[in-house]
Amino acid sequence: MLHESDIKKYTRCDKYYWYSLQEKPEFLPFVTYNMDIYELVKEYFGFEDVLMGKKGDDPEKALQAYKEGKVLLNARIAYRDFRINIPCLFQKDGKTVLYFVYAQCFPKISEAQKAYDTLYVMEKNGIVPDEIHMIHINAYYERKDSLDVHECLMVTDEYYNDRNRPAGLIEEHLEACKRDLDALIEEMHHLPDLSLVQKKRNPNCTSHYKCEYFKKCFPGNDHDTSIMNLVQSSKKYDCEQMGIDDMAMVQGDEIEATRVQYAQVMAAKKRGLFVDKAALKSWLSQLTYPITYLDFEWQTYMIPPYEKMKPYDVLVFQYSMHIEDEEGNLTHEQYLGKEDCRIEFIEDLISKIPEKGTILVFNAQGAEALRLQQLAKVFPQYEEALRSIWERMMDLALPFSCGIVYDTRMAGEYNLKKLLSLFSDLSYESLEISQGLLAVKKYRELEETESDEIKEALFEYCGMDTYAEVVILHTLMKLIKADQ
Ligand code: SF4
Repeated sequence: MLHESDIKKYTRCDKYYWYSLQEKPEFLPFVTYNMDIYELVKEYFGFEDVLMGKKGDDPEKALQAYKEGKVLLNARIAYRDFRINIPCLFQKDGKTVLYFVYAQCFPKISEAQKAYDTLYVMEKNGIVPDEIHMIHINAYYERKDSLDVHECLMVTDEYYNDRNRPAGLIEEHLEACKRDLDALIEEMHHLPDLSLVQKKRNPNCTSHYKCEYFKKCFPGNDHDTSIMNLVQSSKKYDCEQMGIDDMAMVQGDEIEATRVQYAQVMAAKKRGLFVDKAALKSWLSQLTYPITYLDFEWQTYMIPPYEKMKPYDVLVFQYSMHIEDEEGNLTHEQYLGKEDCRIEFIEDLISKIPEKGTILVFNAQGAEALRLQQLAKVFPQYEEALRSIWERMMDLALPFSCGIVYDTRMAGEYNLKKLLSLFSDLSYESLEISQGLLAVKKYRELEETESDEIKEALFEYCGMDTYAEVVILHTLMKLIKADQ
């Protein structure tokens, strides 16, 4: 059976689709889908006689239910071997009405292609809706003591652009998405063995993020100083065309020459490390003791589970902090909450964190600082205490994100895990939880059942994050000391 996700992969890159058939990576959703969106739609419209689709349903079941006048929700039908789900279909006042259902706040124009394909398959099965609308989650809904489904969902006829602004009626976008699905399906059934086909590099290989199959496709070009590892660069493809396949070969005017790119090129020419020592010294001089190394873990809920939360709000459930005094002594504090632990989290954090000194966080502004600002908005009684924390935060990622320090082994990446492995013998690989999404997955399990093992694994993971911060800061300090 083919699904829309297969067609999406194939139209992105045939080899990408081909690889995805050989090995299916584990999918770890970063959002907790804590309620079934179709159950909410059912409640919103007050439907009674419903066929609610289930995995593995025979497509004939939905067609039969449609003939019987039932409401179809997430019901599976097929054309050839291409299967789609009819999101929400019912008959009213002699008309057939279709709602596309989106478990998101601002369904984007890019969703229109899937909508067109759905209509294509429906039409092939003799179902042509008279009306088409959309229903999605209301981004501005704030939960009171109970969930109000009529406020939490909203109906619209327009898609949104990337800035979440209305961007045209659904009919206009459907028209723009017309394509020959029969021809596409045919092509996908006659794929050659693409393991032997050498693809040309294209923007899909590295735009937004590096394709997970990049190393397989271009094994010779994935060395640390490959021009493909040049960050924020659209000119790297031109460089490669000109034969400049290593950053060390760049002279300057072939690339955009941002600060980070400069650091990358200089490190490549030295075959190792670039350090802007004056800038690093200046950044380090802002640190004051005690230094608190801080890290949070949180999960995102599709539907607000607790009062004063909005759709897709996050709930911070854990922190780890290492505290270093001027003599280099290290102490450790940690917290792990359950269910609605927001106030307990705040109070525990405020009671344990030093009242003075720098608070060092990796990627502070987009993460920990933002989390505290969100909590302060919901619980203004703690705003002053929380403000004193986020205002003392310094971002440990900054020396890397600004091109002050670059090690060729970073290969265009700078995250805690990568830096820890470069600057020490420690690694997350030995931990039961080795990455953030796995921590969220384990935390979801912990919500269902008490488990000391999971708690221990979560403490170990979050504790490793703050210890990695200690290692990284001390490495940066050594880079300066080595020169004195
Ligand atoms: S690296 Fe590029 S060519 Fe290879 S599978 Fe990914 S997108 Fe396709």
